[in-house]
Amino acid sequence: MSEQKVIIVGAGLAGSLLSIYLAKRGIEVEVYEARPDMRSTEMSAGRSINLALSDRGIKALNEVGMDEYMLREAIPMYGRLVHDVEGNTKMLPYSGREGEFINSVSRGGLNLALINEADNYRESRFYFERRCIDFDCRSGEVLIRNERTGEEHEVFGSTVIATDGAGSAVRRAMMNGGVPRFNYSQDFLEHGYKELSIPPGVDGTFQMEKNALHIWARRSFMMIALPNFDGSYTCTLFLAHKGENSFESIDSGAYPSARPNGKEGSSSAALIRFFEDHFADSIPLIGNLEHEYFTNPTGDLGTVKCFPWYAGDKALLLGDSAHAVVPFYGQGMNASFEDCRIFDELIDRHGTDWGLVFEEYSEVRKENTDAIADMAVENFYEMRDAVADPVFQRKRELETRLEQEHPDYFSKYSLVTFREDVPYSEAMRRGNAQDRLLMEICAREPETAAIDTEQVLAEIKALAI
Ligand SMILES: Cc1cc2nc3c(=O)[nH]c(=O)nc-3n(C[C@H](O)[C@H](O)[C@H](O)COP(=O)(O)OP(=O)(O)OC[C@H]3O[C@@H](n4cnc5c(N)ncnc54)[C@H](O)[C@@H]3O)c2cc1C
Repeated sequence: MSEQKVIIVGAGLAGSLLSIYLAKRGIEVEVYEARPDMRSTEMSAGRSINLALSDRGIKALNEVGMDEYMLREAIPMYGRLVHDVEGNTKMLPYSGREGEFINSVSRGGLNLALINEADNYRESRFYFERRCIDFDCRSGEVLIRNERTGEEHEVFGSTVIATDGAGSAVRRAMMNGGVPRFNYSQDFLEHGYKELSIPPGVDGTFQMEKNALHIWARRSFMMIALPNFDGSYTCTLFLAHKGENSFESIDSGAYPSARPNGKEGSSSAALIRFFEDHFADSIPLIGNLEHEYFTNPTGDLGTVKCFPWYAGDKALLLGDSAHAVVPFYGQGMNASFEDCRIFDELIDRHGTDWGLVFEEYSEVRKENTDAIADMAVENFYEMRDAVADPVFQRKRELETRLEQEHPDYFSKYSLVTFREDVPYSEAMRRGNAQDRLLMEICAREPETAAIDTEQVLAEIKALAI
């Protein structure tokens, strides 16, 4: 395989992991990344400093020997810790089984570790500040611009794998006539996001429960917080761009803010009032709310679906470039890592017959990435609305009991998050059928302790899913 040279566009999470997979096989890889080398620059704030890593991602890291290293740097999160408006908290475990939890990891730390690992192979070479500005789907030539000098040059390999994220330049070339009948859709949520932070307490202690994903669910909006290794938390505020409770209503000062301090109408007063009304317990914890809110950017959230993912044997889209999802199942990176693992399995089967590998990979993967994309949007509504709903909370309690008492029961969340052997499409089908049944049972029965789990399990089995 050594005569092969694969060009990877984008050294983000998927591109850097993929480069390890290929280099390990003895395939030469050249990776072109638009940003500067993160080993010599500071990560900028405002783009999910930490991420939830779970079993699908861990399995893909395990295949290249990187799982233990990453888990040493991770903080286990055993459940959602729900904060109500009064500041009371309640833990909703992710699973009733021991050993099933998700992990908060640093995006920058993970990316860096993967690039460093790839650099250990003489087969892989990284070129930073090199942006792909065009791709020729017929010849396979990639046009690269040196971001420092502005010079442009072409690169060419046996094939190209585009891991250049949700705004992929290679996908744009495929869409703009490069691939006939290229289907593409991008659906934005009406909500955007902004990151804030909770610094460590005295002596680097955690100011809230360390081993949980904190969530302030307020029906039409919410905030979450994931722990970082240094005792801090990264909070993400998810809010509509426009409307009553929105970024616009805060930024314009229109959020009702009749305060006796003479500042009503200002965006700062609106921000403080908004937090006092909805996230009061977080105010003393967030270091400098006004500074962070008005300095950090507001991001958009959207789902990208497209097909076909390949241009003959010349290029393949992988990771977010093929299927960007909203972050509410914590699966975008995990799915992209799973992409790399499945892609690698297909090289086992077909060698470097890229046309065949790309075709089969797309067939196997498309229905699964569509499934996680749809479940991620549904989970947004679940986290935002249902987490605070008593019937939903009872359902989570019942699911926890089912998982404790019946080792062969897996909730939808567990199927997606902890069962890397179950494809996303199957997790969705089984999970949705179970969810409907459990919600019906919990709507009827106000006391979960009174529910016979044997009976529930029999009903689930009778669903024949
Ligand atoms: C707020 C938020 C929270 C999230 N939380 C989670 C989570 O908890 N768990 C989870 O699994 N996923 C999460 N995700 C999703 C996850 O971030 C993505 O799915 C993942 O980063 C996809 O990896 P990727 O390598 O495909 O794309 P990216 O990580 O976006 O990497 C793309 C790379 O390509 C480079 N690039 C872009 N254009 C070019 C170009 N033209 N030329 C060269 N290089 C280029 C970029 O600089 C970047 O380095 C979250 C996403 C967001 C927005």
